[in-house]
Order: sequence, then C-alpha cells, then structure tokens
Amino acid sequence: MVLAELGGQIASALQKMSNVTIIDEKALNECLKEITRALLHSDVSFPLVREMQSNIKKIVNLEELAAGHNKRRIIEQAIFSELCKMLDPGKPAFSPKKAKPSVVMFVGLQGAGKTTTCTKYAYYHQKKGYKPALVCADTFRAGAFDQLKQNATKARIPFYGSYTESDPVKIAVEGVDTFKKENCDLIIVDTSGRHKQEATLFEEMRQVAEATKPDLVIFVMDSSIGQAAFDQAQAFKQSVAVGAVIITKMDGHAKGGGALSAVAATKSPVIFIGTGEHMDEFEVFDVKPFVSRLLG
Ligand code: GDP
Repeated sequence: MVLAELGGQIASALQKMSNVTIIDEKALNECLKEITRALLHSDVSFPLVREMQSNIKKIVNLEELAAGHNKRRIIEQAIFSELCKMLDPGKPAFSPKKAKPSVVMFVGLQGAGKTTTCTKYAYYHQKKGYKPALVCADTFRAGAFDQLKQNATKARIPFYGSYTESDPVKIAVEGVDTFKKENCDLIIVDTSGRHKQEATLFEEMRQVAEATKPDLVIFVMDSSIGQAAFDQAQAFKQSVAVGAVIITKMDGHAKGGGALSAVAATKSPVIFIGTGEHMDEFEVFDVKPFVSRLLG
C-alpha cells in the first residue's frame, strides 16, 4: 500500500469514529482494528502494530472521549505520537565533521540501491562543503566498480577501487588510507550486496568493518521489500554495528511501513530517503513531516 493510501484508510477509520455518538471500548476497538489492518497492509511488522495498538489504548482515555471532546483529534494525536515514537530510536546518528576524517560504510542487499545511495550521500555532503571520497569494496559483483566510478566521475568525487584485486578488505583498507592521506573528511566505503542474506556476505561485511573501523555503518533498504523489512534489518544489525538507515525508492510504489520496521530492528534512525535514480533525488528524513504525510 502506498503512503497516501495508508493515510486515506486511517483517515476513514477516524472519520467513522467521529460519527459515532457514544464511544465505548467496542467502538474504539473497531477503529483500532481498521487502523491495524491498514498498517499491516503497509508492511509495518505485526509485533510493532500490536505494540502500537496497546499503547494507543493506554493513551486514549475513554471517559475523556465520552465527555464530548474531539474524539477524532484525540485518537489521531495518539496515533501520530505513537508513529513518531516508533520512528525515533531516541539517539541521533553519528554525523561527520568537516576537516576531521570520518569513515562511513554502506551495507545492504544487492539491488537495494547501495551504490547509488553512496554517491548521493557523498554529493549531498560535498555541496555542504565536505571533502568526500568513494571506495568500492564490492569485489563480488562484476561491474560494481565501473558503476561507482561512473557515478563518482559525474559528481566529481574522488574514488578508489580495483579491477583485479579480489580481497574486499584489502581494497577497503587501501582506499581509506589513501583518502586519509589526501585529507578527505568523509570516506565512504561501498560493500558487496549479494542477493540473499548469506553467511559469506555477513562475514565479509564484518571483516571490512573490523579493518576500516567505520564511524558509522549505514544500512540501505529498498522500501518495496515489504514484510521482510524487519528480519532483514535485524540480520544486518546482528553482524555489524548499524547506526543509521537509508530507505530507497520512496518514489514509485513506496511503502511506509518498512521504515518503521527498519528503525525498530536496528534501533537506529532513518537519516535520508531516496526518491529517484538521480544524484539529487535524496532527502533528509524528518520524522514529523513523514508521519503527517503518512496520516494524510
Ligand atoms: P546496489 O546493488 O544496492 O548497489 O543497488 P544500485 O545502486 O545498483 O541500485 C539498483 C537500482 O535501483 C538502480 O537501477 C538504481 O538506479 C535504482 N535506485 C536506487 N535508488 C533509487 C531510488 O531512490 N529511486 C528509484 N526509483 N530507483 C533507485
């Protein structure tokens, strides 16, 4: 379900509620059931939806509702604050400082948009006055280095990689060292993806992280992966210290629920969203406007 649809369904459940004269537990449960259904359709994971439902019931005071306060508003506010709470893990992500070298490592499944997002992230910071550089430590996928090279060249960002070296750890370390010497303050390491969450992928990621000691590991997730979001994000978090999430492909048939699941699974905030294939189709993620849009 796309975001607008979810907003529409929640709005309709709330509308029904405000048309009822007496709000008792049954009416509230009916309303929450409809909202729950809408959230599940939007790929918010089942345990999260359950938790949210019980939290809303705790917040919403039935007596207050019966006293004729604006019922729709009270429930809407409870949903708003619950969704915001879910998207805010309570601690901000590491943010790179200018003129001080930071290493940021990108992880995610193949096709999630990792390589594209690395360049977007570099380009975004370059415009803010940073001196970024890109390292291609993906030796698994043929063409990965060419893709990064092409993107980097377009954005005039220095890059490092190899056509012949097969050890991703070696390339990552060499790349990071090279750019530290060149006084780059934001060294971005793109890692290999693979199609599935295989043990070798996680082992390789772990080794690259151990060797480059990143200040931040960003998990890149395709917004269209659906209910698998929670498990996938959790699997990555269990192997490397994921500290932030970027959700890609929020244009098109994007589902909002994946973002909530990824935050819950990694206990890390979403920092940007990808909204297209181009370099500048990249937005800072803000919880409140996102939830407002979600609720229509
Ligand atoms: P990787 O395998 O994770 O490195 O993924 P790529 O960066 O190669 O991206 C896979 C495909 O998704 C490419 O065709 C990208 O152009 C596309 N892509 C990446 N981010 C976005 C996005 O935010 N929106 C859209 N529509 N496409 C994207």
